[in-house]
Amino acid sequence: MRTVYVNGNYVPEEEATVSVFDRGFLFADAIYEVTSILDGNLIDFDGHMKRLHRSLNELKMPFYMKDADLMAIHRELVSRNAITEGLVYLQISRGAADRDFIFPAASVPPTVVLFTQEKELIDNALAKRGQKVITVDDLRWRRCDIKTVQLLWASIVKNEAKVKGADDAWMVRDGFVTEGSSNNAYIVEGDGTIVTRSFSYDILSGITRTAVLKCAGEIGAKVEERSFTVDEAKVATEAFSTSATGFVNPVVEIDGVKIGTGVPGPVVTRLREIYTETSRAVAV
Ligand code: PMP
Repeated sequence: MRTVYVNGNYVPEEEATVSVFDRGFLFADAIYEVTSILDGNLIDFDGHMKRLHRSLNELKMPFYMKDADLMAIHRELVSRNAITEGLVYLQISRGAADRDFIFPAASVPPTVVLFTQEKELIDNALAKRGQKVITVDDLRWRRCDIKTVQLLWASIVKNEAKVKGADDAWMVRDGFVTEGSSNNAYIVEGDGTIVTRSFSYDILSGITRTAVLKCAGEIGAKVEERSFTVDEAKVATEAFSTSATGFVNPVVEIDGVKIGTGVPGPVVTRLREIYTETSRAVAV
């Protein structure tokens, strides 16, 4: 049985409860972070904390716990649940109050929930085979840079992909790819240039994205942060996505069109190796 953390207590998952008045439940008024665990260590914890504070600030959500305390809870859960490979999920909502669109008083305490999930990150079948993606309209709200729990469109399009025999969906706004349902999207051009959309309200600033773009620099690859179209993606030599739990994940088919040779290419394969090595080395 899993031990989870709720508002100061470590409890068996069956006993963990939050209020029906929780604003995360009623308004999706909550933010989250997912930190990967490799060899029992946290990957890029500082990066996740930085983005967490940005999300809190953007939503004017009061929160007073220290990063060191959050780190201690992450570690405690990893240890109590004996996780060597997987993730820690952290969610903070604006707390529980009578249902009202107006935010409650700042004195209402946030709801803080953390739990672990086991997952094979390194030995991943999808990464070996390469993902098939479909393209869909990006119909999310316009603040995709904030990591809120409002994930319904992402969930709908991922299910649509599954129904169509694909693995994921890439979202498209005004003809340009924004990102994957739960990952950032990239293509590799004929000359080896890696192209990914630049950061704006339209995408989440992936912690893995930042790390992988740094890795790209280390292998001497040219990186262009700019928008690309679905047509450009279809004629790319390689394509891939990145996320905390997916690492670097090849994309070998877009809307039924094979990308490059239809198998994971050298750039994505190398980036996945380097990213895995680097994050393993700096995990804490
Ligand atoms: N974009 C979206 C929409 C996501 O949900 C995620 C993962 N939460 C990412 C990008 C990748 O972010 P990260 O590398 O921090 O996991």
